[in-house]
Amino acid sequence: MRQLLIILLTATLLFGWGKTGHRIIGKIAEENLTPEAKAKLTQLMGHTDLARIANWADEIKSDPKWSHANDWHYCTILEGQDYEGPETGGRAVQKVQEFCDLVIKESLSEKDKMDVLRFIVHIVGDLHQPLHVGNGTDKGGNDIKVTWFREETNLHSVWDSKMIDHMQYSYTEYAQQIQLTSTPEQEQAMLDPSIIAFITASRSFHSQVYDIGDGKLGYGYIYKNRELMEERLLKAGYHLAAILNDIFK
Ligand SMILES: [Zn+2]
Repeated sequence: MRQLLIILLTATLLFGWGKTGHRIIGKIAEENLTPEAKAKLTQLMGHTDLARIANWADEIKSDPKWSHANDWHYCTILEGQDYEGPETGGRAVQKVQEFCDLVIKESLSEKDKMDVLRFIVHIVGDLHQPLHVGNGTDKGGNDIKVTWFREETNLHSVWDSKMIDHMQYSYTEYAQQIQLTSTPEQEQAMLDPSIIAFITASRSFHSQVYDIGDGKLGYGYIYKNRELMEERLLKAGYHLAAILNDIFK
């Protein structure tokens, strides 16, 4: 049992935004769909709760049938370079591009369309977590050992879930809180479905994200990074809405 628990805990370290983060993004996107997109998504899903399907792509990681999908959650931009494709590590960008075409393909079964949609919702979210656009040297911060309020963990995990959980909001409360402060500049993201632009933005925040001093993280790190974290969640929700509104016109 103890061993199982350790395996489970280790596995979560590799996940994208934690459950709450993905639900926040789904919820924000949901609230910014056009009426056309909402109607077409309802036809496909039977309901339009993007928050509810946002974590499926992490849940299937325990199913060996899906092991080929493990590198669909991240991409890599090497230091000082532009994005150069999946050769540098991670196929998230290709998969989102491929799935945006697939999800409306007539020949695809309803079940497969649904799976494809679940991947789009999840991966677009992941790519806004700055450490899901890795630098190619430390597994997206998984190799950077830190403490979080004295608990041993790694930098990736702090960004996936520890900071979000620290705020003690439910996902619906947090989705609402974040949108309250959104600016017209941020709302432009609702009109911008281009993937390369937002992975480049994610990567551009690395110097701030990696500014961890002695690695003992807690209130000080949250104080410096809360705004960025919330901005990434907000933009993820808006970009996801832009992508879905563009597909389901
Ligand atoms: Zn993920």
